[in-house]
Amino acid sequence: MRVIVVNSGSSSIKYEVFTLDDCASVVQGLLERIGTRDARFRRRWLTDSGDWEEIIESQPIADHREGFQFLLDAAVRYPTTRVAPGAFFGFGHRVVHGGEVFHEPVIIDDDVIRRIKELIPLAPLHNPPNVAGIEALRALRPDVPNVAVFDTAFHQSMPPKAFHYALPNELYRLHHVRRYGFHGTSHQYVAQEAASYLGIPGDRLNLITIHLGNGASAAAVQGGRSVDTSMGLTPLEGLIMGTRCGDLDPAVHFYLSRKTGKPFDAIEDILNRESGLKGICGMNDMREIQRCAEEGDAQAGLAIEMFCYRIKKYIGAYTAVLGRVDAIVFTGGIGENAARVRRESCEGLEGLGILLDERRNSEAPRGGVEIHCEDSKVKILVIPTDEEREIARQTIETICRAGGA
Ligand code: AMP
Repeated sequence: MRVIVVNSGSSSIKYEVFTLDDCASVVQGLLERIGTRDARFRRRWLTDSGDWEEIIESQPIADHREGFQFLLDAAVRYPTTRVAPGAFFGFGHRVVHGGEVFHEPVIIDDDVIRRIKELIPLAPLHNPPNVAGIEALRALRPDVPNVAVFDTAFHQSMPPKAFHYALPNELYRLHHVRRYGFHGTSHQYVAQEAASYLGIPGDRLNLITIHLGNGASAAAVQGGRSVDTSMGLTPLEGLIMGTRCGDLDPAVHFYLSRKTGKPFDAIEDILNRESGLKGICGMNDMREIQRCAEEGDAQAGLAIEMFCYRIKKYIGAYTAVLGRVDAIVFTGGIGENAARVRRESCEGLEGLGILLDERRNSEAPRGGVEIHCEDSKVKILVIPTDEEREIARQTIETICRAGGA
């Protein structure tokens, strides 16, 4: 039997099919440009010989329901996936915002959908297409259980002193303004992988997990539970990201509004889409930025320096939060690949017992690896994230706990 993990966006559906017994990925697909006459459907699947085969098709797809129908048909059509109709164990849905309601994955019923919809004001761009995906699959295959796995759930273990903002309390009570944190599935996954790599139970480990992709966040993970994280009410807070500014004096909004006469929507757009690495040097792809920095582009160099300096500040802060740090874990496209970023983020932290081995760091192959010096008190690990696999794992667990499919 198979589990399908679904990430349903406003005009795209990303999905991955996993085996039930060993949670191995056997099909990966992306359907883009939903709602147009030339939707693009790209998918690859694992053949019996262990190679991946890929196909790209184009055809009109009117809406999410049609998109899901198309991809379910495709899953059955391609014999290598061996998914017979009825052989779906469950569908796991990535849902961005679970607010304070959802602390863990849940089997989806009408009440869960209602509560996810109530959270739309907190994630107006993400929760609606997530719900569209859930509703489409429930309608098409009412016999298969659906599980919602929330980006925010892992951080619901934060204590009040970490999740509250120093604002009038009624803003929390009436409008739910607080830190939620995101990338929870990724932080949880790499924390578990770090525990199994180190051979130490997760509940005895203190970790700083640092997810550096287009979006970026850090988390302090104590005994397997998130106790603080850098993203806040929205994913805008914290580390510098591809196009998001991260931490900022809140007065910048008012100052900019008064100075430029721009409405808040326009300023929100600048902070989300025109800032971060892109704002500093005009580029948001770290590979390109590194290349330009090496060729002497001063702004590109500054962007990397600022990016790493912010990470370093969070490592310092979370060392203070945790008291004892067993390991720092780098993950995400940049965290897994950019040796310079890892080096500069850990530079000068010898006083905290953090000693990066430059040779190991620069030669780090893909896959779980350690890059600290032998005598480093804090281990430094590079662990590839796999949010889809974690969602598949949680989907299986949740369905089994509820009494099976
Ligand atoms: P993600 O969102 O996790 O896919 O990560 C995207 C980011 O990872 C982009 O900024 C990419 O430039 C960056 N990235 C991917 N591969 C590399 C690499 N080999 N070196 C540096 N950055 C990379």
